[in-house]
Amino acid sequence: MAELIDHPLVQHKLAIIRDVDTGHKRFRELAKEITKFICYEALKNIPTKEVSVQTPVAPAVCHKIDTDLVVVPVLRAGIGMLEGILELAPTARVGFVGLYRDEETKLPVSYYERFPPQIRGGTCIVIDPMLATGGSTSAAVRSLKDQGATEIIVICIVTCPEGIALVEGEHPDVKIYAAAIDQQLNEKKYIVPGLGDAGDRLFGTLDPE
Ligand code: URA
Repeated sequence: MAELIDHPLVQHKLAIIRDVDTGHKRFRELAKEITKFICYEALKNIPTKEVSVQTPVAPAVCHKIDTDLVVVPVLRAGIGMLEGILELAPTARVGFVGLYRDEETKLPVSYYERFPPQIRGGTCIVIDPMLATGGSTSAAVRSLKDQGATEIIVICIVTCPEGIALVEGEHPDVKIYAAAIDQQLNEKKYIVPGLGDAGDRLFGTLDPE
């Protein structure tokens, strides 16, 4: 299932991050800000436990988060969303997954994985700004499941029906949160209208025209 975060603050920032004239410094700031809003919504159903807190006046019944959070950026563009989540959840642990596309099979192959043990029993948040074909996201989720993770959500900035369908088909238990569900993929597998290559725009690696 995919949930669109259509709050005006998110949509306003999305309009700016999509703009071809937005440079890498602003792009990075916006990716972080948008991620924070999506994450805030996406974590609204995580487990909490009741605790009693003594205020200066009386005991208060409160609720604290009752799960380990593990953020898993998909390299490299997922790194651009990491800081935003860590500002909201500073004690979250971080795992990494790196994937490349096999030119013959066209399938994603994992070249790097490093997960904290808390993926087992905790809540894993896979982050990748562009959920396009869904291949990398689905492979990242598969890697986590293979190592024992059971609670996994995906946060992206822009996705499209093809990507959602693939992840939903392979992982019906995993919910996707996005600021935009765009129309389609083009022949180069870019999301249309999308925002271009998120990694290049985040890290300033675009070729000068
Ligand atoms: N990756 C990107 O960075 N952009 C797209 O549109 C698709 C995949």
